[in-house]
Amino acid sequence: MWQFLILVSVIISVYILTKINSQSRKALKNNRTKTEIVKCKVCNLNIPQTEAIRVDGTWCCAKKHIH
Ligand SMILES: [Zn+2]
Repeated sequence: MWQFLILVSVIISVYILTKINSQSRKALKNNRTKTEIVKCKVCNLNIPQTEAIRVDGTWCCAKKHIH
């Protein structure tokens, strides 16, 4: 009985560790895309990718650039 309980707790802890690992890896990826700097093709301004708008494979800093 004790062996079974130990086995179950080991499986649960491994499962939780794997889940935490994948979550932190995902968060790291999100942080990296947040800090990425792109250049606006219209005014050549360097801006964070989160504030840029993707148009035809290039980046724009504001919606008013899109025609
Ligand atoms: Zn611009």
